[in-house]
Amino acid sequence: MPLRVENVEAALRQAVTDGLVGEDRPVAGFIDVRGVRDTVAGLHDAFARVPDVLHAFAAKACPLVPVLRLLADAGMGCEVASPGETRLALAAGFAPERIVLDSPAKTRTEIREALERGIAVNADNLTELDRVGRLRPAGSRSVVGLRVNPQIGGGSIAAMSTATAHSKFGVALADPGVREQVVEAVVQRPWVTRLHAHIGSQGCPLSLIAEGLAAVHRLAEEIAERAGRRQITSLDLGGGLPVNFTDDTTTPTYADYVSALTEAEPALLDGRYQVVTEFGRSLLAKNGFTAAAVEYVKEAGGRRIALTHAGAQVAVRTVFMPDAWPVRITAHRPDGTLKSAPVLPQDIAGPLCFAGDLVASERPLPELAEGDLVVLHDTGAYYFSAHWAYNSLPRPAVHGFLERDGEVSFAVIREAQTVDEVAAESGAAQADALLSAFGTSPGSRAA
Ligand SMILES: *Cc1c(COP(=O)(O)O)cnc(C)c1O
Repeated sequence: MPLRVENVEAALRQAVTDGLVGEDRPVAGFIDVRGVRDTVAGLHDAFARVPDVLHAFAAKACPLVPVLRLLADAGMGCEVASPGETRLALAAGFAPERIVLDSPAKTRTEIREALERGIAVNADNLTELDRVGRLRPAGSRSVVGLRVNPQIGGGSIAAMSTATAHSKFGVALADPGVREQVVEAVVQRPWVTRLHAHIGSQGCPLSLIAEGLAAVHRLAEEIAERAGRRQITSLDLGGGLPVNFTDDTTTPTYADYVSALTEAEPALLDGRYQVVTEFGRSLLAKNGFTAAAVEYVKEAGGRRIALTHAGAQVAVRTVFMPDAWPVRITAHRPDGTLKSAPVLPQDIAGPLCFAGDLVASERPLPELAEGDLVVLHDTGAYYFSAHWAYNSLPRPAVHGFLERDGEVSFAVIREAQTVDEVAAESGAAQADALLSAFGTSPGSRAA
């Protein structure tokens, strides 16, 4: 079962007792290990009737090695989109044949290394497919796919919609003449056995995702007809199941997703194609939360403002696109217990030095005071990975937790970054570089 506010409260109280969040550690992330396992089990259940399916977790949603290893242990594969994510997936112990490489701008080196390891590669476009053909070692075990964009339109968040007419992803299937080019290119390359699409992420309705994937299925069938054999043997359906950020319920579910797909194309999941999925947000979002201390409370222009340690460094999308990425917040006493009355509208501000650094504006919440804690719910996906280093704020710690017989215990997933580490990645070792290379006075040359 995904996290509920009561579970968050219990975990937070223990986290305070254990000193994981509070005065000296003013912000931290938490991931519920049982919730992650249950969510993965739910995904497997929803696809139980598809005989051959690889559920590859989209690493970008939570690129933390212990989390990836937990997912590998739960039976998942991994979708990666950069040399860094590939490195993390290998460190987490995913077998290369359970890793899928998808990025839109792969270098030759990246492609060569993936093909040498037996990692599956989805080419983003026909030029890349050409490159893959030239770099593919004889007898390569890598499954090779081609990403297509059925151009069926976008959802409510433009930046999350990948199947629009002008999307930067995949081959634009509906452009004049392109479908024919794709069929030709695939039929001429018998080693291309997969079609890939990722229709969109948060904000895309299920019906739109289903319609796009049905179009990919039609293309695979058309290729089979042209090739005179079932050349495409697997369909990589991408991810994108939207997440409900307004309360504790999980809607839509993976079962809803499977129903929508089956309704749009009854043959899509009938077992003739191996299926790959690439869910990210829906696996982790509701199994994680962020807790932050309230440092001060003040009034300005009749408005109540809580200055907390959760701002754009840990919630960058929420701060910059608050309408698209609203986050649910609860108020807690310094010991972690939930606060209730009196409720009043408050701005929940972060610690960064710019005026827009608010995770919520005029949010009705129990009155906050110095030393209280705020919880940002449903932040298990993307929030811990998309840290923003503005003001040289360190990446906070992320802890995994498990509740057993009413007791919560923790394990460190990622240590908080120290100020020494911040200095190191900010060039501290090269402190003298500009003076020693170019001299100490204007125009002077190094000796
Ligand atoms: C981001 C991404 C995903 C995961 O999307 P979610 O919305 O997190 O499920 C899957 N596949 C590709 C190609 C992606 O870019």
